[in-house]
Amino acid sequence: MSVVVVGSLNMDVVVCASRRPRIGETIHGEEVYMVPGGKGANQAVASSRLGAKTTMIGAVGSDPFGETLRDALLKEGINIEALHSLPDQTTGVASILLAEGDNSIVVVPGANGLLTPKDVEGAREYIEAADILLLQLEIPIESVMIAAKIGRQAGTRVILNPAPAKELPKELLVNVDLLTPNESELQLLSGCSLDKMGLREAMQKLLEMGVKGVVTTLGADGAAILELGGEFKHLPGKKVVDVVDTTGAGDAFNAGLACALAEGKSLLEAVDFAGKTASLAITKLGAQAGMPVRSEVDKLDE
Ligand code: ATP
Repeated sequence: MSVVVVGSLNMDVVVCASRRPRIGETIHGEEVYMVPGGKGANQAVASSRLGAKTTMIGAVGSDPFGETLRDALLKEGINIEALHSLPDQTTGVASILLAEGDNSIVVVPGANGLLTPKDVEGAREYIEAADILLLQLEIPIESVMIAAKIGRQAGTRVILNPAPAKELPKELLVNVDLLTPNESELQLLSGCSLDKMGLREAMQKLLEMGVKGVVTTLGADGAAILELGGEFKHLPGKKVVDVVDTTGAGDAFNAGLACALAEGKSLLEAVDFAGKTASLAITKLGAQAGMPVRSEVDKLDE
């Protein structure tokens, strides 16, 4: 089973302080740490830990962060032959201030924003050979579109996690087998307020826009499924007693979904597997560091 991810890699620079500085003010923070992130890389790491042969197509800069991110993926056993190191460019950075129990984040896309359709085209062989192509929206939309098109033409199943939310062209949606929004992304994409319209109706709207199936993640409430010609189904969330860090829950879910489908599981089984993967990820600190390995997920069935 194989999964190819076309997406972003960031270095998350996390600064912890007792409070937020006022404009023009300098304060002392308490801690700083740097951890690999970016939705693409998070999903690739989870996919590899779940046992899928995983390839990452993306771009980093020619700076020390880029080297660190490449090494991190290599250590996870991920194929980085199609990961570009762009000369004279900076690696994507998410600067995260944790203060007063909340976070403020500035993301500088850097090399992620420079991954061109031509770069993706150059990595066509990996997309064609994979069972599943996993996409998000932290790289240029034109590059997402060409990846989905190559996937569709090759018969590789295309999963698009539409995060961060933005409106999507129909030419992209028609090449998507499964769209995996959370509730706010579903509202933006369908144009339906979930207060006014039911979940099922909003998901139906997305099917009418051209995707073959929709899986909406609902946080602690689990996930809902609607496929063309299929029944609406709701899978409740797994009970998690010790929630430590929900960052990356969506990434874990998408990787779990991709791996299970690559193994030939049904969509219902795959959503169940994805929910288990995410329920484990939120019991550990850090998006990438918290991704579970396969044996942990399988153990939940015992
Ligand atoms: P994030 O942006 O934090 O990564 P998201 O908004 O993309 O998350 P969510 O819908 O919050 O995605 O969560 C994804 C999946 O993770 C859910 O469908 C569910 O399976 C699991 N999950 C998230 N939070 C919880 C929770 N508190 N308890 C159990 N499962 C959870």
